[in-house]
Amino acid sequence: MKKSLLGLVVLLTLSMTSRSQVKIGFEVSFIEPQAHYAEVEMNISGLNKDYIDVKMPVWAPGSYLVREFAKNVEGFKAQAAGKAVKSEKVDKNTWRIYNAKASSVKINYRVYGFEASVRTSYIDDSHAFLSSTGIFMYPDGMIKSPSTVKIVPFQGWSKVSTGLEPVKGQQFTYCAADFDILFDSPIEVGNQDIFEFTAAGVRHEVAMVGGGNYDKERLKVDMAKVVEASTAVYGENPNKHYTFIVHHFQRGGGGLEHINSTVLGASREQYTSESGYTGFLNLVAHEYYHLWNVKRLRPVALGPFDYDKENYTTNLWISEGFTAYYENKIMLNAGLIDPQTFANNLVTAVANVENTPGAKVQTVAEASFDAWIKFYRPNENSSNTTISYYSKGEVIGLLMDLEIAQATKGAKSLDDVMKAMYLHGKTSQRGYTDAEFKAMVEKISGINFTDFYAKYINGTHPAEYQKYLGYAGIKVKNENEGTSIPYIGVASRNVDGGIFITAVSRNSAAWVDGLNVNDQVISVDGVPVEAVVERMSVITGKKVGDVVKFQVVRDGLPKTFAVTLKANPNIKLTAVIDDKATAKQLAVRKRWAGI
Ligand SMILES: [Zn+2]
Repeated sequence: MKKSLLGLVVLLTLSMTSRSQVKIGFEVSFIEPQAHYAEVEMNISGLNKDYIDVKMPVWAPGSYLVREFAKNVEGFKAQAAGKAVKSEKVDKNTWRIYNAKASSVKINYRVYGFEASVRTSYIDDSHAFLSSTGIFMYPDGMIKSPSTVKIVPFQGWSKVSTGLEPVKGQQFTYCAADFDILFDSPIEVGNQDIFEFTAAGVRHEVAMVGGGNYDKERLKVDMAKVVEASTAVYGENPNKHYTFIVHHFQRGGGGLEHINSTVLGASREQYTSESGYTGFLNLVAHEYYHLWNVKRLRPVALGPFDYDKENYTTNLWISEGFTAYYENKIMLNAGLIDPQTFANNLVTAVANVENTPGAKVQTVAEASFDAWIKFYRPNENSSNTTISYYSKGEVIGLLMDLEIAQATKGAKSLDDVMKAMYLHGKTSQRGYTDAEFKAMVEKISGINFTDFYAKYINGTHPAEYQKYLGYAGIKVKNENEGTSIPYIGVASRNVDGGIFITAVSRNSAAWVDGLNVNDQVISVDGVPVEAVVERMSVITGKKVGDVVKFQVVRDGLPKTFAVTLKANPNIKLTAVIDDKATAKQLAVRKRWAGI
């Protein structure tokens, strides 16, 4: 009995140590950065299996498209205990390594990175941006395992910027508590210009890549204001340090959120104009706000992630749309835009949604669910059949915020919902369901939101913006009201002097009378198209109901279309902040926007 008990103890101890002794380490180096390659070595020790599968994610969280990162991998080979062993691909993103029972396995592969974006890797002779989901592999079933990453910069490169925790005493070496953290931590290697600031008790590092005419001192002050205003919504900032990686291009933009870092795109000349500078701070506000909304306060489908396939959620109107809405609120609260700009930005967002034909076809919940096949794969008909969960979600954020402030007579706002849902996620350690989010909105507001959800989230009801903004004493004017402007309903592009139709708006004159995308317009009412631009009266001189003759070339054949002009259906909104608002309107306005 004693003996067998002893055996059991030994067995238990062995199995426990064998699990805890699995070590995963990466080393990334560069032999041919000018040809856009990174060399990856992965060492796994302590595994005791006949074979192991290693996998590369197919997508990058935050960007809802299967990107097949494994397509950039070449030269995969494996060694066990120092000897080459057989390996083979078993599906598009999985490699199987045999004879792995040896105590250590070494894997080498190269990754090609030449797609400059916030979610893909880019390597050249001046720097490397490593988007982790397309660089690192994980042993199947071991997503929760810790790992270390050592970066060996190319000769002449001296800096590494990442949100990963550095390993003390080891240069350019970092650790990740699990693969979710590693995949959520992009790495910039090169000679970036780094500056720091502290705000909300958090040390922030800003890594500026690729030039740019920014003013560091001004950015430190204004980015700190954005951080403080974002943190104020939630009452706490969960990070100890945060890294901004900013890529500058001749023309660029976009951003991708991570748990304690972000990657931003900017134009080198962006900081010259005030509007460009404000636009950059807007992007900072958007991505920074995400460290709560979507990285922590998140839909249940978005974490833990399945890196093998699409992860479906109907809640991107909250994750992205509310972030777009808060971007504007944070800019106002940080004192970086004035109340009139704030109000105009919001009504412009409303008009953009109302003027999109697809807003009457697709609900925002459907837009979110189908992001993978629609939003991220747009075509010439997208604006007729889809609505962006960013812009519609922004409008819903506005309406919901005002509805809560109105229902509580200015005691509560959407801020209270966001904060409560953040704390809910922190306690439950999981994402929220549709029902939980709605329940919290109803709890905080004290009113029923079933009709609101039916209209705006699961329906395509037009936004009742005058009613909602009226709660805060904001009057909205439609500049196009009462006008009857003739309208064709096409967008076009000049290709080598030829004017080609690129979009036809649903139910417009062009739609009804048969103009198509890719038609080359030769003349309008007999006036050659080159002259139409100068003589806008060819169209503006007409009235609704007039017939205009379009001569086009379609697939090499001439065609003529008689287009009966219809009235421009689009609204153009401006906001007036009413000085003579009632006490209740002022209370709602104060809680809603602090103005
Ligand atoms: Zn976003």
